[in-house]
Amino acid sequence: MDIVSRLIPKLWDLLGDQGLLNDPTRLARYAQDWSGDLTGRPLAVARPARVEDLAQVVRLCAEAGVPVVPQGGHTGLVGGALPSAEGDELVISLERLDCVRGIDPVNFSMVAEAGCVLAALHRAAAEHDLHLPLSLGAQGSCQIGGNVATNAGGVNVLRYGMARDLVLGLEVVLPDGRVWNGLRSLRKNNAGYDLKQLFIGSEGTLGIVTAVALKLYPRPTQVQTVMLGLTSVEAAMTLYAAARRDLSDLLSAFELLPRRCIELTLAANSTLREPLAVPTPVYVLMEASASGLVDLTALMEQFLANCLEREAIIDGVVAMSQAQAGSFWRLREELVEAQHRQGRHLRTDVSVPISGLAAFMAAADAAMARHLPAAIPVVYGHVGDGNLHYNVLPPFGLDPAARDALLYQAEELIFELVDHFDGSISAEHGIGRVKRVPFQHRLSAVDRDLLRAIKSSLDPAGGMSPGRIFMLDES
Ligand SMILES: Cc1cc2nc3c(=O)[nH]c(=O)nc-3n(C[C@H](O)[C@H](O)[C@H](O)COP(=O)(O)OP(=O)(O)OC[C@H]3O[C@@H](n4cnc5c(N)ncnc54)[C@H](O)[C@@H]3O)c2cc1C
Repeated sequence: MDIVSRLIPKLWDLLGDQGLLNDPTRLARYAQDWSGDLTGRPLAVARPARVEDLAQVVRLCAEAGVPVVPQGGHTGLVGGALPSAEGDELVISLERLDCVRGIDPVNFSMVAEAGCVLAALHRAAAEHDLHLPLSLGAQGSCQIGGNVATNAGGVNVLRYGMARDLVLGLEVVLPDGRVWNGLRSLRKNNAGYDLKQLFIGSEGTLGIVTAVALKLYPRPTQVQTVMLGLTSVEAAMTLYAAARRDLSDLLSAFELLPRRCIELTLAANSTLREPLAVPTPVYVLMEASASGLVDLTALMEQFLANCLEREAIIDGVVAMSQAQAGSFWRLREELVEAQHRQGRHLRTDVSVPISGLAAFMAAADAAMARHLPAAIPVVYGHVGDGNLHYNVLPPFGLDPAARDALLYQAEELIFELVDHFDGSISAEHGIGRVKRVPFQHRLSAVDRDLLRAIKSSLDPAGGMSPGRIFMLDES
């Protein structure tokens, strides 16, 4: 019997029928990501329901030399959570580790297991009149463990920061199966290295997050959602700076949607309506929120009156109901699905300094028009964080090889400009396997040494998500 044949019965004994899947008909949903673009072949899928079982699975796999890949809600889209095509990696799904261990309303914190779906944690916090501000389009599927592993952002980063800024403590199963208990809910802790930071954003390559202590905030009792029409991206970025100052830093979201994005979403969903009376070149979906005694309505009215007087905006609508606010947000959120319907396309999640965003967009548009005039850029994002999805749809009718070549060239053009603007090729989804090569190209010798030192000291055998982010032996 080979090593794998000996491992599977041991896992079976440990996890039982519900906890270990190796019947091919039950593996399909663990073998494909949210977009359907990427697929893999799991050796088997372990679904432990207790941390000690998960630790034992990792220990058994380490002993057998079988690589493991943690899997959350499958929304990462860069191939990090997918098993390899060779069928030699065991998927560890966190989906059954989904308890909220506790909520402390005085400490403004919660402790949740890694498999909790983000939207479920929003509801759990709201039951205590509290707010978990991590909010993203995938929140109905992504898990808090995946959010931590990718250092997720979302629409509220400009006010509350990334997942990293919300994590107080972590519990992690290490590559050798030991459990590191760093699950403390302290606001301040300067005792030694801040070890949890190593695991946040490490995309499952250094350990498996099993539980997270998170910061919570007072639940906003007032929300103002506004759709604005503007002449240009420059005008939107000037408005952004004014909004942060004039709204007393209560701004919680600032999304840029050029006209093409609105048209794409409206074409894909006939139940959605034009947000403003007359089309404008650029739209901004902006949200401010507050709790307590602040008069947010008056603040927003004054701000918008000033904007109109300065002719900083062409038109604007303040949502008068939650339903109207929801319809504005659907124009943003359904854009992902609208692009998905166009077939295979280039998705990026780049960032540049906020002050350089308008110039970056103009330079990227010019480069696309010059080198790939038939390609269709679809550009939008959380511009309050300097984060853009500079996506590219190929022209209709290209054969797959020509299409892939065009999308590859488009990515190179965009990434070169990102370098020029001193930006990042990944501001959201991480590196996974899809962006490993461009990531490695951009590393300095010192970067490489540090990455190697961290990976090889925590995972000397290299069995934890091998080939994700970087390869130890690849330059
Ligand atoms: C429609 C849509 C909108 C999105 N919007 C945003 C956005 O606004 N901002 C943003 O940052 N991202 C966004 N994303 C990307 C994605 O939702 C995030 O990266 C999310 O954090 C991934 O969580 P997941 O549970 O789906 O992880 P998965 O996709 O399952 O895994 C992602 C990576 O984390 C690792 N991993 C998963 N769970 C664990 C764990 N418990 N321990 C260790 N490693 C683990 C996996 O191995 C993999 O490498 C969006 C995605 C979609 C589809």
